[in-house]
Amino acid sequence: THSMDDDEDLQRVRVTVRLRPRNVDDHLPDADFADCVELYPELKRLKLRKNNWSSESYRFDEVFTETASQKRVYEVVAKPVVESVLNGYNGTVMAYGQTGTGKTYTVARLGKDDASERGIMVRAVEDIIANTSPASDSVEVSYLQLYLESIQDLLAPEKTSIPIHEDPKTGEVSLPSAEVVKVRDLNNFLQLLQVGEANRHAANTKLNTESSRSHAILVVHVRRSVHEKVKDITSQEKDTGTDLFIGNDKPMIRRSKLLLVDLAGSERIDKSGSEGHMLEEAKFINLSLTSLGKCINALAENSPHIPTRDSKLTRLLRDSFGGSARTSLIITIGPSARYHAETASTINFGQRAM
Ligand code: ADP
Ligand code: MG
Repeated sequence: THSMDDDEDLQRVRVTVRLRPRNVDDHLPDADFADCVELYPELKRLKLRKNNWSSESYRFDEVFTETASQKRVYEVVAKPVVESVLNGYNGTVMAYGQTGTGKTYTVARLGKDDASERGIMVRAVEDIIANTSPASDSVEVSYLQLYLESIQDLLAPEKTSIPIHEDPKTGEVSLPSAEVVKVRDLNNFLQLLQVGEANRHAANTKLNTESSRSHAILVVHVRRSVHEKVKDITSQEKDTGTDLFIGNDKPMIRRSKLLLVDLAGSERIDKSGSEGHMLEEAKFINLSLTSLGKCINALAENSPHIPTRDSKLTRLLRDSFGGSARTSLIITIGPSARYHAETASTINFGQRAM
C-alpha cells in the first residue's frame, strides 16, 4: 500500500526480511526440527510456526528466500537509499538478527573471489563511485566498531575511544577524530574494507570478545558540486576534468552521508549467568538494540520526537534517520525451529518498525 517515493512516506522505514540457506549447524528437517518459517515472496509474507497446529503470518516490504541473490537484495534494500544519498540526503541501511543468520554476509561480504557474492557495502560504494565525478565530487569513508559504548576506528586501530560530536545548531553528527579516507576506485575501497576487517578481528581478539558483540559501521561521505544551469556543458567536459560554468552560476556543494550498519547479534544474552566483562557486554548490547528499537518504532509512527539520546548507536544515527533521511532495515533469520524464540523476536522487531 505504501510507496517509498511518496513524500509523506519518507520517514517510514523500509523493512525487509532475508532467510539464510540451511547450513551444517542446522538440524536436518524432520518431525522435530522442521523449518519454523514458510515464505511467500510473491505475497511479501512470512509464516512463523507457533506450534504444530497454528502459525502467524507477517507482511514485510519484501521477503527474500534463501535463493535471493546479493544483487537483488542490494537493489531492493539499499539502492533507493543510495540514490537518495546521491541527491544530497542522508541515509541508513542496517541489518538486524541473531548471530549466524547472515548480517555480515548481507552487509559486509567482500566477495574477493566471486564478485556476485559482494554485499551491500561494496555495491553501494561501487554505485556511488559510478555516479559521481572524480573531478568535481568526492567520496570518503570512515569505518568504525561500536563496542561497550566505545567507538573504535577500524581504519586506525590505535584510536579506541572516538567521541561523537553533535552540532548544537544544525544537529549534524560527526566524529572529528575518526580517520576519513578518500576512495579513489573500487579496488582501493576493497582494500580499505579488508584492512577494517582485519583490524576488527585483531581488536576483538585483544578484547577477548566476538565480533558478534559489536556493531560495525561504515560511513560514506559524499560531496558533490552541482551546476544546475549548465548540466550539458559540465557533462561534456567531465572527461577532461574541467569544471565549466557560466557567469555567476556558482557550483553548489551538496554533502550527504550513508551509514551502513552490521549490528551486533540480537540474541538475548543471559545476564543471570554472566559476571564482570560478560555482564557489561550483555547490558550494553541490550541497551543499544533496545534504544534502536525505540527509535525505529518512533519513526514508524511518524513521531516528531525520535529518542536518540539513550545510546551511542542511536546518537550516531541521529542525523541519518528521520526527517529527510531514508532508512532501510533488513532482518535476517535462520530456518531452524531450534531457534524459534530468537526468530520470533527478530520478526517482532521488524514488525514494530513497519
Ligand atoms: P551473522 O553476521 O549474522 O552472524 P554471517 O553473515 O556470518 O552471520 O553468516 C553465517 C554463515 O552463513 C556464514 O558462513 C555465511 O557465509 C553464511 N551465509 C549467510 N547468509 C548466506 C546466504 N544468503 N547465502 C549463503 N551463505 C550465507
Ligand atoms: Mg556477523
